Amino acid sequence: MKKEKIILTGDRPTGKLHIGHYVGSLKRRVELQNSGAYDKTFIFIADAQALTDNIDNPEKVRQNVIEVALDYLACGLDPEKSTIFIQSQIPELCELTFYYMDLVTVSRLQRNPTVKTEIQMRNFEASIPVGFFTYPISQAADITAFRATIVPVGEDQKPMLEQTNEIVRRFNHIYGETLVEPEILLPEKTACCRLPGTDGKAKMSKSLGNCIYLSDTADEVRQKIMSMYTDPGHIHVQDPGKVEGNTVFTYLDAFCLPEHFSRYLPEYPSLEELKAHYQRGGLGDMKVKKFLNAILQEELEPIRKRRKEFEKDIPSIYKMLQEGCMKARETAAKTLDDVRRAMKINYFEDQALIEEQARRYRGE
Ligand code: ATP
Ligand code: MG
Repeated sequence: MKKEKIILTGDRPTGKLHIGHYVGSLKRRVELQNSGAYDKTFIFIADAQALTDNIDNPEKVRQNVIEVALDYLACGLDPEKSTIFIQSQIPELCELTFYYMDLVTVSRLQRNPTVKTEIQMRNFEASIPVGFFTYPISQAADITAFRATIVPVGEDQKPMLEQTNEIVRRFNHIYGETLVEPEILLPEKTACCRLPGTDGKAKMSKSLGNCIYLSDTADEVRQKIMSMYTDPGHIHVQDPGKVEGNTVFTYLDAFCLPEHFSRYLPEYPSLEELKAHYQRGGLGDMKVKKFLNAILQEELEPIRKRRKEFEKDIPSIYKMLQEGCMKARETAAKTLDDVRRAMKINYFEDQALIEEQARRYRGE
């Protein structure tokens, strides 16, 4: 049988989606969805995972489910082509997680670099919720339940995919070929793998409040760009400036295309020339920021417009999500059946087992 090509990825409803999500995963998903090269696409809102570090703030998670769904639709995810669902509505995922937990050691989880960073970021050190600590295992359940072969995500998800593949290999080794190993799909441009925050911090993240949101107004985007972190040593226009670690240039690396120059900054032939001028001195931050603003506004305007349209009919979005959940559940239930059979915990459907036990007790 030909191996199906299946896409799966998701986001935590801890806030609206930002341009880091967009370049890290969202834009790619839409392209893949529309490419026609994949048999199925599953996109999910990871509310159960969001609760692992927001357990005392369920309202935040609840409110953001619709925000994430609106951002999805605004970016072009299409429920006709992609199954969009909410993680907590698929209880099969919990059961898979529970079985996979036996295949992972505590020390292996402790070595996960993303979990380590996130524990620090949240000041959990001595009081890490078990659910948070084990979320890479639940992520393995999300991925394998849908037999995903491709997972388009940002760089921070690399350790999660490695963990998933270890679980798959261990499971298949012990119980026989059952689960599918997924491949990570990282953005092509390095700047998009982990877009920094507007404050220059290593990662734009909803939890750090250093984001340009896809739903920000044109004014908000402009203001955020104008107050963005650049090179603190570049004080006067004539000073030589650094482009490494300069967030404005990193965003240009992520978003700028050759045609943007003819449209907005015709005096420069390319990004390399613009960078060279900045490094030599004589190019002010304001000019570069205005250029970035023009590019971002062009990219975000159609998204904002589409979002406004979808915002007019919220009940139909919940309905779309509910239908997505029903569809997703059917797929996850099939995988869970296979897992139970492989693990030999399918007692009642195993007529041979029942008869064998009966014969044994009849002394045959
Ligand atoms: P939280 O702070 O709640 O973890 P987040 O902003 O990190 O939120 P997630 O929902 O954890 O967002 O991530 C969703 C997807 O977006 C993942 O594939 C992740 O790799 C990607 N992503 C998140 N932030 C960035 C970023 N700054 N650059 C590139 N990709 C990102
Ligand atoms: Mg995150």
